Amino acid sequence: MPFSPADTVRRDVVPCSGGQHGDRSPREGRSITAGDDMGRPRTFAQLNLPDAPGEELEAELRPRTLAEFVGQLRVVENLRIAVKAAALRGEPLDHVLFSGLPGLGKTTLGGLLAHESGARLHATSGPALSRPADLAGLLTGLERGDLLFIDEIHRLPVAVEEYLYGAMEDFVIDVPIEQGLGARSVRLPLQPFTLVGATTREGRLTGAFRGRFGIREKLEPYPVLELVRIVARTAAILRTGLDPDACELVAVRSRGTPRVANRILRRLRDLAQVRARDSIDVEIANEGLFRLGIDEFGLEETDRRILGLLHRADGGALGVKTIAAGIGETEETIEEVYEPHLLRLELLRKTSRGRELTSQGRRWCLDHAEPESKAREAG
Ligand code: ADP
Repeated sequence: MPFSPADTVRRDVVPCSGGQHGDRSPREGRSITAGDDMGRPRTFAQLNLPDAPGEELEAELRPRTLAEFVGQLRVVENLRIAVKAAALRGEPLDHVLFSGLPGLGKTTLGGLLAHESGARLHATSGPALSRPADLAGLLTGLERGDLLFIDEIHRLPVAVEEYLYGAMEDFVIDVPIEQGLGARSVRLPLQPFTLVGATTREGRLTGAFRGRFGIREKLEPYPVLELVRIVARTAAILRTGLDPDACELVAVRSRGTPRVANRILRRLRDLAQVRARDSIDVEIANEGLFRLGIDEFGLEETDRRILGLLHRADGGALGVKTIAAGIGETEETIEEVYEPHLLRLELLRKTSRGRELTSQGRRWCLDHAEPESKAREAG
């Protein structure tokens, strides 16, 4: 479903610069300013902001307060302290950078920071800000204490990133007023604001940019017990009955990622519904996971194809480009979505020559190989 701000938000939520939504993917195009009629902030959940096609429900599932946010205790505690200290000093919160794999809660925390600090929330993404002018329009519209959330901040063009430096450090921007030989610019003061960046690739940010964030927090994959709480919470929001054993099964197979857990649960809910079951039990969960091609380690079809490709390389290493071409995914997707889980399971390792199977990975491939290739391996 294409993202249309008019469909989902009230008149007080207006698009930021970054412009037309129709020609971009929902994630790239989302660029909104939030605040209700009283000027109070809204969270992403209240905005009902969809993240990607087919994920409209995601916004509804987002925790609305920090207390509802499950896990990441160290990060949450650090944020509470920072928000409280800034409030005591009467200053805007320092700039914040969230890093971590997709679906771990970076966007959610961005919204919650605005909520906790009583700040108005403006959200956009790196790809939506293609020129410094896009950013200038956005920055000059900010009021004191506002929170500007930039998703996929590693995808900001260098010129835009450098333009942000002065805004972050001294709350000023230089706006060009004449082009060509007599080019001139005027320096405009900005209201003190908080930039919250989210990135899946912290390593792609320059040291100069990273250094300008006073608060940097990395989100880690969730342990099963926390995912159990997240899945149970989602089931309650969706008003779906869920047996404890089925809940644990979903948690175990969710690759440590709340977004994956929620996606699996929604598909199991579909299955329970068409089977006319009152709740999701272990039988429905097992059937649903089988239908989704998700195995006991949380591996999906693409993971298996990656392992198969490496196995056919006869113990040799393959570059990520070769793997991407071999299975028809982008390098970025391999590196952000699939590889981290395979690394965590120690089925794959990174070497200077590329990616290769570990001995566990080879064993996994042998155990899951077709009978004829097993025979070939055996000699
Ligand atoms: P990211 O921005 O890191 O890709 P999101 O913040 O969009 O991840 O989170 C994806 C989904 O996972 C959200 O809809 C939210 O419902 C859920 N989620 C993430 N972290 C948590 C958490 N700690 N507790 C409960 N739900 C969470």
